[in-house]
Amino acid sequence: MIIALDGPAASGKGTLARRLAAHFGLPHLDTGLLYRATARTLMDDDARLDDVAKAVSAARGLALTDFDEDRLRGREMGEAASVVAAIPEVRAALIDMQRAFARRPQGAVLDGRDIGTVIAPDATVKIFVTASAEARAQRRALELRGRGEIVDYHAILDDIRKRDARDRERSEAPLKPALDAEILDTTDMNVEAALVAALAIVEAALTRQDHAAKSPRAC
Ligand code: C5P
Repeated sequence: MIIALDGPAASGKGTLARRLAAHFGLPHLDTGLLYRATARTLMDDDARLDDVAKAVSAARGLALTDFDEDRLRGREMGEAASVVAAIPEVRAALIDMQRAFARRPQGAVLDGRDIGTVIAPDATVKIFVTASAEARAQRRALELRGRGEIVDYHAILDDIRKRDARDRERSEAPLKPALDAEILDTTDMNVEAALVAALAIVEAALTRQDHAAKSPRAC
């Protein structure tokens, strides 16, 4: 089973992905970390974020195991990641790694922006997790404060709106729900309620798959 979760920044898709992976005993890949790590390599090398050759080489050099999550999850890196993620060549360099993860024999949970549309269009279930920009800014501010960053809610809201626009308007793999994705709006939900709703979507997809496998094929 492949579970694809997509959605804008701070929509809660990462938390849901981790919880669903634990529930079903599946490996999980947070694909945002790939773009964040690519941006971090460029910043560490004092390279420009729009240097295509260096960005592609940074993306190709990534290994799924060497993520220093503490630094990667900071505010600055999210913004930088969305700049490198708009470079088509960077996206192309990261596709095989993500598809190989999705095709693991036991199945997988992946979260990002283009999992249901590009990385795993044949996923068993696709959930597009969303929430109002204000709710997302509040959650992100809480998370960053919890990590010791000094943050201003309005600056975070501004970041989120800028990042949404960049992710939605880029030419390659823009952020949008797959045609067959279920939309899960978590604006008024806490984590537990969102998990219950996501589990219901996955169970319904599994039931549909089961019925389709059992029903006789029309000639
Ligand atoms: O999900 P996260 O906030 O970690 O993603 C950081 C940035 O990486 C996003 O704003 C987006 O530009 C990019 N991204 C992407 N495609 C993905 C995952 C992340 O373009 N599958």
